[in-house]
Amino acid sequence: MNLAPYAVCAANSRGRRLAEQPPAYRSEFQRDRDRIIHSAAFRRLEYKTQVFINHEGDLFRTRLTHSIEVAQIARSIARALKLNEDLSEAIALAHDLGHTPFGHSGQEALNECMREHGGFEHNLQSLRVVDLLEERYAEFPGLNLTFETREGILKHCSAKNARALGELGQRFLDRTQPSLEAQLVNLADEIAYNHHDVDDGLRAGLITIEALCDTALFGAEYQAVIRQYPALAPRRVVYETLRRMIGRVVTDLIETSGQQVAAAEIADIDGVRSYREPLIIYSDDVREQTLELKQFLRQRLYAHPQVRGKMSEAVKLIHALYDAFTGDTRNLPPQYQEKLAQPAYEGRAGQARLVADYIAGMTDRFAVREYNRLFSAAELV
Ligand code: MG
Repeated sequence: MNLAPYAVCAANSRGRRLAEQPPAYRSEFQRDRDRIIHSAAFRRLEYKTQVFINHEGDLFRTRLTHSIEVAQIARSIARALKLNEDLSEAIALAHDLGHTPFGHSGQEALNECMREHGGFEHNLQSLRVVDLLEERYAEFPGLNLTFETREGILKHCSAKNARALGELGQRFLDRTQPSLEAQLVNLADEIAYNHHDVDDGLRAGLITIEALCDTALFGAEYQAVIRQYPALAPRRVVYETLRRMIGRVVTDLIETSGQQVAAAEIADIDGVRSYREPLIIYSDDVREQTLELKQFLRQRLYAHPQVRGKMSEAVKLIHALYDAFTGDTRNLPPQYQEKLAQPAYEGRAGQARLVADYIAGMTDRFAVREYNRLFSAAELV
């Protein structure tokens, strides 16, 4: 790999929490990626909601296909900017590992349940998964990933949590930046969901092409496609529009960021971290258009009565599960009950955290199954 001097590489890595022999035929960051792919949390992403509930249709994105799309976009950007593609891929594949079932509604519900016990934040939970909750290796808990992959997973963090995280949390207290690889995955995430949610929203019939044409980003590309291919089937027009939109945004991001890094005269990774603001950015035009599209999706799709209706059922389910497990921990599976004896899970707050870990790890359908197990049994008594 021909890397820029400010890219992350094995030589400037801050390493793993527990030192290990370097891999023989892979980079350190390929090893991170491979550990993520082999984790149980990664496989569960297949049955977790992105926006549309998992069983609503086979063509909608799940958290797994979303994560793969983020990784694809992130790798393209990383390679074009001569940044560490393996690291960006690892961060992208891990970025949603801590997500609850039922998308953002699930996360908000669990956060609400945990209000008195430090709250629940899916970003922090992703870190908890790779640092602690995965149990696969003889020598260490979690996946023992490199500092740089963990840094990229932790996108945001409160000052209180940052203090508890030591070296990894320090940048939120100092207000410094993460690596360029981490910065670009953050935007690749946004690019992926903005575009695939348009696709899924149209497929579900919850948003219309007419309304979308009021947004500059969709409107311009859509009109150009129609002009060039007047007889093209509507579904292909949408796909062609979306592919041009992604192309435009990604190209803009690569070019603007390249210029930004050059103008700031960044010489190395320390220069990236200590720079006063992110260096991976869109041009002003594209940033505004991206914001407009995001706002459109928030108002017309995420807040659509049909999406909200499904999600309010999910919120009730998460609350009911949380109450059932904290009300009587004997409702937890045996391996979780055993953990209650560990100092980390002592007291009411510790117990609540254990329950949050259990619920966050569930897929949509497993959460429904647990709900049915607990509540149909209760009705029999
Ligand atoms: Mg995401």
